Order: sequence, then structure tokens, then C-alpha cells
Amino acid sequence: MIVVCPSCNAKNRVPEEKLAESPTCGQCHQALIPLAPIELNEQNFSSFITHSDLPVLIDLWAEWCGPCKMMAPHFAQVAKQYPNVVFAKINTEENPRLSSAFNVRSIPTLVFMNKTTEVARVSGALRSSELQQWLDQQLTSQK
Ligand SMILES: [Zn+2]
Repeated sequence: MIVVCPSCNAKNRVPEEKLAESPTCGQCHQALIPLAPIELNEQNFSSFITHSDLPVLIDLWAEWCGPCKMMAPHFAQVAKQYPNVVFAKINTEENPRLSSAFNVRSIPTLVFMNKTTEVARVSGALRSSELQQWLDQQLTSQK
């Protein structure tokens, strides 16, 4: 499957069974699946989402939002456990066009995407256990 490098945007072909073995980018040699949230913005978003064969879980947040900050460590924590999902963050203030494209009404909002299709979304801060449960449900219904 194609994994888009979060550091240089190069497309890397990675066999599915190697996803959990910390593959690195053929171009820049950075971790392809850093097991930590990556930053998406108006420049890299559409190319990333179009080419990534891995589903992408997006956290739409803002600096001034208390619940967003509360959720951030939980989001990062859960990211470590899912090598088959890309965890991404979008700063809604710095990326107003993405924010309106997602029609964000309240933050934090989590959007689960498969390629360019929005599969599910949930608003409000979740703790790790709740986030994991919600994500597991989405992954199960994908199959
Ligand atoms: Zn790279």
C-alpha cells in the first residue's frame, strides 16, 4: 500500500505486513509512520489524503480551545497504538479554508477519513479509552 511520508510527502510503497515494523521513507529516511500525530495544512492536505492508502484520523483544533488541549495528550497516546492509521492534526485558525471545507461547527472535532471520503466524525474531547473505542468501531465497520 502507499504511505505518504509526513516529512517530505514522498509516496512510499509499503507491504501491509510491514506497517508495524517502523518503515522509513525511501527519500528522506524519516519514519513513515511516526506513531505520533503529524501536521496537515492547506498546502499538504489534499495531496496527502489523496495518496495515502492508510485511513487518516484528523483532530481539528485551535490554540484557544481548552478541551482541545486536554485531548491532545490522549490523541498522541492512542496514535502510538495504531500503526495502520495516520493520526493528523489541523490547526483550524491557521487553516481556515480546510476548517470551512470540513464545516467545523465546534472543536475539537475528530474526522476519520478513508482517502477523500469522510467516514465518521465526533465532536468534543475524548479520553484515550473513549477515543480508542470509537476508532475501533470505525475500523470494524470498514471491513
Ligand atoms: Zn520522506
